[in-house]
Amino acid sequence: MKAIIIGGGIGGACAAIALQRSGISTEVYEAVKVIKPVGAAISIWPNGVKCLNALGMAAPLRALAGNMASMAYRDHLYGSELTRFSMAPLVDAVGERPCPVARAELQAMLLDTYGRERVQFGKRVARVAQDAHGVTAWFEDGSSATGDLLIAADGTHSVVRAEVLGYPTPRRYAGYVNWNGLVTIDEQIAPADQWTTFVGEGKRVSLMPVSGNRFYFFFDVPLPKGLAEDRDSLRADLSRYFSGWAEPVQRLIAQIDPNTTNRVEIHDIEPFSQLVSGRIALLGDAAHSTTPDIGQGGCAAMEDAIVLAHCLQNQAASVAQRLENYQEQRVGRVKDLVLKARKRCDITHGKDPLQTQAWYQSLARETGEHVLAGMIETINGGPLN
Ligand code: FAD
Repeated sequence: MKAIIIGGGIGGACAAIALQRSGISTEVYEAVKVIKPVGAAISIWPNGVKCLNALGMAAPLRALAGNMASMAYRDHLYGSELTRFSMAPLVDAVGERPCPVARAELQAMLLDTYGRERVQFGKRVARVAQDAHGVTAWFEDGSSATGDLLIAADGTHSVVRAEVLGYPTPRRYAGYVNWNGLVTIDEQIAPADQWTTFVGEGKRVSLMPVSGNRFYFFFDVPLPKGLAEDRDSLRADLSRYFSGWAEPVQRLIAQIDPNTTNRVEIHDIEPFSQLVSGRIALLGDAAHSTTPDIGQGGCAAMEDAIVLAHCLQNQAASVAQRLENYQEQRVGRVKDLVLKARKRCDITHGKDPLQTQAWYQSLARETGEHVLAGMIETINGGPLN
């Protein structure tokens, strides 16, 4: 059996590795010549870590991961601790630790595991078609590829998605802008082994350790879509939005490099219930685009890859039946993740200011039990728990 995989990002690369490990022949076609991930880093939660372990990457992943021993929320004006608690109960409950990693390093690990030289770069799929014998992808350079099945891991702007669903799926602006990047760890900003988040005014500033003595930082600000802001205005924009915030936040703004800081308008897509059509399956952001508010988009793509490879093992079923089985196993889970993230997004970013205020007050009473219980529930919904 031969699978054509469209997209060499987290989802496409994990699918390629998973299918290859199950003895399925794979070809990966990636639109760009050099993959430049949109964000600086990513938190891989234990459900995702278990998937990467199962795909043979336990050791290299650990070498890339920061040590997130505790988690804390801080008041935006004074920097005083609202709550701080150990992550150990979460690790004990789910049997794996979270791994925050730099994205470029994650991407390199995935491509090296699959075999970078086997990925066909500069191949942007324009359209796909299938019949009783197989499926074909046509690329913008006029070339084509055929296989028994096609995995569309072509991201949130997927061109294959409309062919599977038969209708367009507009992206929904979530109402806030996220700036993210990497900066050398400075303990005057936050402890080196802690996920620290300053909250107030429906905004947040967060720091998470990754390997190499670096913090992954991000700033969130509720804003209209389409503002004329760029790298030139970045430091002044952040200084304005976070005027009056605590000293560590000002120190962070002074230390970041605008040239390597990303500005992203955050979107998701209303969940849909069809992930496959005949010999074609959607995977990763092509199948479920979420806001990053529970850090599960990439983890869900890793889960997709594991489940897909498992379903394809069923020799007694047709290709279409195997993909239907993948859809059945994934559709509820990914819808749940997208909607959970949307709910968290609204509370964090002040959609209903009273609700957000109540959340800030609840943080001051938080022992860790409630926050960790929510995370454990999400993690334990994964396929390897
Ligand atoms: P992508 O990473 O978008 O990859 C798609 C690939 O397909 C790209 O390489 C692209 O070039 C290629 N492609 C596109 N069109 C075509 C075409 N026509 N032909 C061929 N190739 C094509 N997730 C987490 O798990 N934890 C986090 O902490 C986290 N934080 C996030 C923070 C931010 C600010 C954002 C925006 C997202 C975050 N996510 C996080 C989500 C995560 O980044 C995505 O879910 C993940 O990257 C999806 O991987 P993918 O492979 O499906 O899509």
